[in-house]
Amino acid sequence: MTEQMLKENLQAVEAQIQEACKKSGRKREDVTLVAVSKTHPVETLKEAYGLGIRIFGENKVQELTEKYEALPKDIKWHMIGHLQRNKVKHVIDKAALIHSVDSLRLAEEIEKEAKKRGITANILIEVNVAGEESKFGIKPEELGRFTEKIVEFPHICVKGLMTIAPYVEDPEKNRPVFASLRKLSVDIARESAHNISMSILSMGMTGDYRVAIEEGATIVRVGTGVFGERSYAHDNGR
Ligand SMILES: *Cc1c(COP(=O)(O)O)cnc(C)c1O
Repeated sequence: MTEQMLKENLQAVEAQIQEACKKSGRKREDVTLVAVSKTHPVETLKEAYGLGIRIFGENKVQELTEKYEALPKDIKWHMIGHLQRNKVKHVIDKAALIHSVDSLRLAEEIEKEAKKRGITANILIEVNVAGEESKFGIKPEELGRFTEKIVEFPHICVKGLMTIAPYVEDPEKNRPVFASLRKLSVDIARESAHNISMSILSMGMTGDYRVAIEEGATIVRVGTGVFGERSYAHDNGR
């Protein structure tokens, strides 16, 4: 990936975001782009940084922490991949937002580690909207019970919901998935709890972020669209 290609990709993604916002009567500043940099080398991230990118998404703790050390400190790192409890301690003070909280036991661990450091961890609850067997995430029908429990964790601040939609050729197929996540967030927002807000909807990837924006995404996670194809054998992103 040359710097010129990266620049063109970013411009193209920006244009698509603006178009989707326009189409759905939303403000551009209400949608945040997370540049999903997993598998890409530090040099490439530095170039993206040079082009103005300040929010990067990573799906592995070790990769996130290594890149965290190597890059400027005004970057916000988003942990977007499945998080194992024994790795929470490595990422808790480095991730600005953990998108992938998918169990109460994980939330308990985050609470424990955040408390130790006297910080509040910002998280999203990952919801398995489409009910895919292979995916992590809370079942929509279990969300109510989950949020009831989260209220007991003072060092956690729930900012919203996240979902990974199925891989589809036609992004329109995911429109109902995005609409469902949005509806869930509206329902939860009604039950006002002190440490739960529903200001963030993290949904939409390279193949379907335009549709996700039309359905209310406030964060889109775009990897391939920004950095090009990833070259590795085991992409567990989907
Ligand atoms: C890899 C990944 C993305 C980005 O995927 P692209 O299709 O390359 O845009 C988004 N979200 C999650 C959770 C991922 O793991």
